[in-house]
Amino acid sequence: MTNVWLADELVWIDDRGTSAGAEVRLNATHCPECGRFSIPATGTCEWCGAAGSDVAIAAEGEVVASTAVLHATPGAIVEVPYVVALLRFEDAKLDLLGRVLGTDDPDAIPPGTRLRVVADTLPDGRLHYAFVQ
Ligand SMILES: [Zn+2]
Repeated sequence: MTNVWLADELVWIDDRGTSAGAEVRLNATHCPECGRFSIPATGTCEWCGAAGSDVAIAAEGEVVASTAVLHATPGAIVEVPYVVALLRFEDAKLDLLGRVLGTDDPDAIPPGTRLRVVADTLPDGRLHYAFVQ
């Protein structure tokens, strides 16, 4: 069975065949000119415009901030409430927002908490990345 991702370009190509709950690495573009990383990976550095290459970044990061989402946006497929966290990936010097599984209390994941990136099944059956402790 082929996995259908909400946005497969966000997930490292070798990890797209995984199942829900498994650890996944995110896909970023690394720039050989300025040394920065960008997500989503487009093959072009979003900082300086140079051609870059796609790389996998660490599947674990540190919480910078978190909050609860209490009101659904139009077209939302995930039911509220849920928690989102801004996760810092030190190896790529990137911060990325994602949904946190397993809690509806943002105080349960204070800044500095280490979270892992996993595949999660959305209510419509597609996969998306999420964070877990
Ligand atoms: Zn660059």
